[in-house]
Amino acid sequence: MSSLVCVSLLLCGYVTSEQIRFDGHKVLQIVPHSDDELKQVLAIHDLYDLDMWRHPRRGNHSMEVYVEPEKLESVLSVLKDIGAHVKIWIDDLQKLVDEEQSSIKRSILLPYSSQGRNQGFNHFAYHRYSSINQYLRDVATATLSMSSVNASVSTIGYTAEGREINVLKVTRGDRISRPSIFIDGGIHAREWIAPATVLYFINQLVYGDEFGYASQLLNKFDWFFAPLLNPDGYEYSHTNYRLWRKNRVEHRRKCFGTDLNRNFGYQWNPAIGGSTNVCSDVYSGSQAFSEKESQAVSTFITDNKQNMLAYLTYHAYGQMWLYPWGFTSALPPDWQDLDAAAKTGTAALGELYGTTYLVGSSTNVLYSAAGGSDDWVKGGAGVKYAYTIELRDTGSHGFVLPVNQIEPTCRESWRGLAAFALSLNTIRTGSRG
Ligand SMILES: [Zn+2]
Repeated sequence: MSSLVCVSLLLCGYVTSEQIRFDGHKVLQIVPHSDDELKQVLAIHDLYDLDMWRHPRRGNHSMEVYVEPEKLESVLSVLKDIGAHVKIWIDDLQKLVDEEQSSIKRSILLPYSSQGRNQGFNHFAYHRYSSINQYLRDVATATLSMSSVNASVSTIGYTAEGREINVLKVTRGDRISRPSIFIDGGIHAREWIAPATVLYFINQLVYGDEFGYASQLLNKFDWFFAPLLNPDGYEYSHTNYRLWRKNRVEHRRKCFGTDLNRNFGYQWNPAIGGSTNVCSDVYSGSQAFSEKESQAVSTFITDNKQNMLAYLTYHAYGQMWLYPWGFTSALPPDWQDLDAAAKTGTAALGELYGTTYLVGSSTNVLYSAAGGSDDWVKGGAGVKYAYTIELRDTGSHGFVLPVNQIEPTCRESWRGLAAFALSLNTIRTGSRG
C-alpha cells in the first residue's frame, strides 16, 4: 500500500518551487447503490489514497472524489467491477484553475484601489497573507478615530514557517465587556472562500452593513476574528499547489503538513476520519495539539472562554451548517439549542439568493472525524454554540470557487451569521460552563 500512498510526488509535497498544474485531473462523482457498495467504494478510496472532495451523507451516498491522471484508469476499472455508478464531475481541473487565475487578475491587481469597494479594500477578491494582515491593521487604525467601535489586532502565535496568526477583536467603543463570539477561517488552505467571507464580516461589523445588523450585533457581543488560521498552507495553495489542505510543517519521508482540523484535543483519534500517515491529506498529527496553529488558537480561546458564547469555523464546500460531535454519532445534550440557532441562520441566509444549507451534527450529516476544532471548542473549552460552516458551492467548482461567487457568498453568509447571533440567548444558563 505504501507505494500507492505516495504515488503522486506532487501531493506529497516534493515539488516546492513551481506552480503545479492539473491538466487532465478529474473529479468523479460516484454513486453507490447500497450500503455494501458504499463500503467497497470507501475501501477503494483508501486503497488509492484518493482525495474525497465531498463525502457521502446519510440518505445520499453520492460523493465526489478527486483523481489524478496516473490513477484514473485503474480507479475507473475497479469502480466498474463493483458496479458503482460513476460520472465525470469535473473533467479538467486545470480549466477551473485557469479561469480562477484570470478572474483574479481581473479583480485584483492591488488590494486597495480608488475603484475598490468598502473603504478601498476589494472584498470580492482572493487576497494573499500580507494583504489580509495589512487589512486587519488598517481596520484597527481606522477605529482609532471612531467612537462607536474599537478594533485591535493580536498576534496569537506563529506558524512553522514563521508567519503570524492574527486575531482582530471588535467591540463597542464603550469598552463594556459583553459575551463574545469567535470566528475563524482558513484552517484548510485551499478553501479560499472562507478567509474572504470572514474578512467581509469584519468590514460589515466595523463600517456598517446594508441590513442594519452591525449596530445590534455590537450591542450584544464582543467579536473575535481569525480570518487566516493556516497562513503557511494558504500561501502554498497560492504559490505552488492550489489544492493544498494541511499546514506546512515538515515530517519524515519528505512529507509536509498536518490536517489542523484533525489535530484538536477533544477525543483526538486518528482512526476516526484522520490518519497516522504523515503523507496523508488528513494526517492528524503526532498527538493532539502537536501543531503551532492549533496550539495558538486553542490557547487564545481557553484564555477567553469565560465569556464566549459561540464559535464558528468557516470552511468550504458543501453548504452545511454543522454542530458537534464529529467524533461520534451521539449528540450533545443541548443539541436542540444548537440545531434551532443554526436553522435560524440558514433560513435568513437563504432569503437572499435561495441558497440552501443542510443543518445537523457533523457525524450525522457528513461523516465521523475526530480532532475537529468545533468538537474541542464545545467539549474542551465549554463554549455552548460551536459550529463548522461549509460555504458554497455544492460541487460544481468545489474548492475552486470562481471570483464572481465571492460577493453573493459573503452577503448571504453575513445575513445568516447576523440572524444566528441575534437569536442567541445571552442570559447564562446551567448548560454553560
Ligand atoms: Zn475544510
